[in-house]
Order: sequence, then C-alpha cells, then structure tokens
Amino acid sequence: MDIFQRIGGALARFMYGRNGWDQLNQALFRGYLVLWAAELLCFFMKKEMAVHILEGVLFFLMLVILFRAFSRNLSRRRTENQKWVNWYCRVKNRNAGARARHADKEHKYFTCKSCKAICRVPVGKGKIVITCPKCGAQINAKT
Ligand SMILES: [Zn+2]
Repeated sequence: MDIFQRIGGALARFMYGRNGWDQLNQALFRGYLVLWAAELLCFFMKKEMAVHILEGVLFFLMLVILFRAFSRNLSRRRTENQKWVNWYCRVKNRNAGARARHADKEHKYFTCKSCKAICRVPVGKGKIVITCPKCGAQINAKT
C-alpha cells in the first residue's frame, strides 16, 4: 500500500461518522473564498479597517466550516443542510421564473395581493379585473 492510500484510509477512518463536506459547507466555503478575495482587495487598497473586519469574519467562517465538517451530530447538521438546500432551490427557481416571465412578451403577470399567487393574463386587453384563481381576490390590472 503506498503512502497516499494510507493517508486516504486514515482520513476516511477519521471522517467516519462525521458530517464532512455537505452542500451547506460547499456554499460556506464559496462565501469564504469571495470574502477572502475581498480582503485581499481591501489590503491592496490599504483599507485597514475593512481588512480587520474581514479577517475576523473569515476566521469565524472557517471555524463554522470546520465545526460542521467534523461534527458528529449528524442529524443536526443534516437538518441545517436541508434547510439551506431548500432555501437555495427556492431562490434559484424564483429567479428562473422571473427571467422566464420577463422574456414572455405576450402575457402580463400580476401578483395577487392576498395570497401572492402569480396570475398570467394576455397582453392588450386594456383595463381588466382579474379574479385570482387561488383565493378569488380581485385585481385591477391594465394590460
Ligand atoms: Zn389570490
């Protein structure tokens, strides 16, 4: 067995039963890299105060990442990770939806004030009253 296999095996044994590298940690690490780049930028621009603040934030963030990676409280870590994944998917889908609606020139979209449902109506109908299909509230709209 060569040295790399041995190190790999030892690492695998050490990480067994620990949380490791989940999606939340990946995201935290990406955030870490961005802040680190920002710190570097502040350093070159001689903004000492910002460098100090970012240093503190970076240190704290690394502690959180390491704590989560080596944590043995798997159920807690998985719940955190799941919350993050759900939130991230929601934001991603919302952005994709907004882009699609923006690209759609044949319809106008209105958000229902009472239930936040998005109602789609064809363009060019003048002033109309939309009845929300979800909650029945009326929306005055101009298309
Ligand atoms: Zn509604």
